[in-house]
Amino acid sequence: MSQAETRAFEADVARLLHLMVHSVYSSPDVFLRELISNAADACEKLRHTAQTDASLMGEGGLAITITPDKAAGRLTIADNGIGMSRDELIENLGTMARSGTEKFRRALEEKDGEAKEGKALIGQFGVGFYSAFMVASEVSVVSRAAGSAEAWRWTSNGSGEFTIAPVPADDAPARGTTVTLTLREDHTDYAEEATIERLVKHHSAHVPVPILIAGTGEEDATRELVDGTALWAKPKSEITAEEYNDFYRFTAGAFDEPALTIHARVEGRQEYTQLLFVPSMAPFDLFEPDRKGRIKLYVRRVFITDDAPLIAPYLRFVRGLVDSEDLPLNLSREMLQTNPMLTQMKNAITRRVLTELKKLADTDAETYAKVWDAFGPVLKEGLYEDAERRDEIFALARFKTTTHPDGGRKLADYIADLKDNQTAIYYAVGEDHARLAASPHLEGFAARGVEVLLLSDPVDAFWVRTALGFEGKPFKSVTQGSADLDQIALKDTKHVPEEAKASDIATLSALIKETLGERVSEVKTSARLATSPACLVAPDMGYDKALEKIVGRQGQGLGMKPILELNPSHPLIRELSARAATGGAADTIGDAAWLLLGAAQIMDGDAPADATEFNTRLMTAMAAFVKSPARSDHADSIAVEGGDGNGD
Ligand code: ADP
Ligand code: MG
Repeated sequence: MSQAETRAFEADVARLLHLMVHSVYSSPDVFLRELISNAADACEKLRHTAQTDASLMGEGGLAITITPDKAAGRLTIADNGIGMSRDELIENLGTMARSGTEKFRRALEEKDGEAKEGKALIGQFGVGFYSAFMVASEVSVVSRAAGSAEAWRWTSNGSGEFTIAPVPADDAPARGTTVTLTLREDHTDYAEEATIERLVKHHSAHVPVPILIAGTGEEDATRELVDGTALWAKPKSEITAEEYNDFYRFTAGAFDEPALTIHARVEGRQEYTQLLFVPSMAPFDLFEPDRKGRIKLYVRRVFITDDAPLIAPYLRFVRGLVDSEDLPLNLSREMLQTNPMLTQMKNAITRRVLTELKKLADTDAETYAKVWDAFGPVLKEGLYEDAERRDEIFALARFKTTTHPDGGRKLADYIADLKDNQTAIYYAVGEDHARLAASPHLEGFAARGVEVLLLSDPVDAFWVRTALGFEGKPFKSVTQGSADLDQIALKDTKHVPEEAKASDIATLSALIKETLGERVSEVKTSARLATSPACLVAPDMGYDKALEKIVGRQGQGLGMKPILELNPSHPLIRELSARAATGGAADTIGDAAWLLLGAAQIMDGDAPADATEFNTRLMTAMAAFVKSPARSDHADSIAVEGGDGNGD
């Protein structure tokens, strides 16, 4: 057997521990819940493994035993679960191997050096085992893996190192892990029986493993604090809201309150109990690429896995568990992916959660708004992934729109407020909400009181491309094709703006097209604009440009050039049209063509395609502007060459 060895923590662990030791975190109580949860996990893992190797279980049941030792200022949490080998002790307690802490590490990195922020993060997400160092000056973990003859002790005082040493078999538990905390002076109340009893009953009353408290005096017998019956197996009527909340926090490792709790026994082709929670706060790893659900699978009270596909990926934020009466206990990895009973359960659970979300939306809009804010971008993945339930998901969707900039707008209400002759649901898509809201493409819609959905979540670009419509109305981009706006009446019919003469503007359009050549497919007028002189739109059959940008296909378009649309009532366009009609001002119109194109590109969040042309024309225009009499204040002192629009 090898000897004691001292090792350094992985740098990130050391940093995290430093935070733990030095933070005066307001409720260090959570450390107990974390250690109990680890002990319970270890017991459930053993129960599961013993399904295939009964000898591992041995005599006696599984239990977690807590021993507060007031005289010694120590607290011990012991379990007879799966235990850890030497390598597992090093890997699990010396690195940030777990995905949860990995997220925490990244979040810490982003907030580098801000200890206060770090503390807030601890409070929000918990950091498992390491939280013991909030209250302990030394932590010792003695563990024997199930079935092993060896036992090992891991010790650390929370500074940069830990020690790992063999433990004589007689000094080690027969199986499982004993965590001993030497409490810091200001935390000795955790060695009080009464404190522990209160905390356990409060935080961990529904752990599915019995929790015992052991007295240290001779006459002090061991008492049971928690009986270990599974909460979900009890009838609903016997469970309080507080008990559900505690269980949610225990099972999801969360700190918020669930927005929605679904507890139901399902009977029929299969029998199972589901206890599911929709959190009210988004966790760190919501957008992890693996998109795995986090619902635990039990079979007849035995924990099987937290890796089974039990819900549609777009509902992966749902937490909780499913306990099946019918599945075999020895489900293999492959069976998890292919078992038809699991597939059927997944469909039923997905349907149920959507139904309950709808109910919540209808009865408690305020709570539902939180859910949508936290998880809307994930739910919207269902709009293109799950065509069958698309309408159900549309009914859950809430939008920011031009008339409801704060969000919360339902599509059904959008439809109810359609303007006369409006035949489509209009949307604008882009990465930046503020830029989107200021887009010139929206002007003509605003002038007609036509509401536009403002879609700025990356996922939006995906579903709008495949959505056929809602209640018979197609989705249509404001930057695409002819916007059909001519059919819809202006809000202010008294002050209809004066427009350039049709024939004049046709001449102007032709001149501009000639100047810009192949950079645009067409130059024409439209009703899309109100205050801007021009904008770019995609041809009717072409792809929406902003959308292509988001899905990363920019430049691969089908060679479709954009259309430059002119606003016939803009003073600048009116004036240019008039001049074009008389056949004069060719240079000015040439300059204007480049500037209008560049400005439209800038408003779309792009750079002017031909920066040199744009810049030359802009300088020419500025030169004219500093020379003009009304602005002549500084003109004398600036030497301007080649002014007066003779740019060619
Ligand atoms: P988490 O429980 O979220 O994985 P923790 O920091 O609480 O993270 O624990 C880290 C790992 O250490 C666990 O995943 C588990 O593998 C191991 N571990 C901790 N406590 C125990 C225990 N009592 N018995 C067995 N393994 C444990
Ligand atoms: Mg844990």
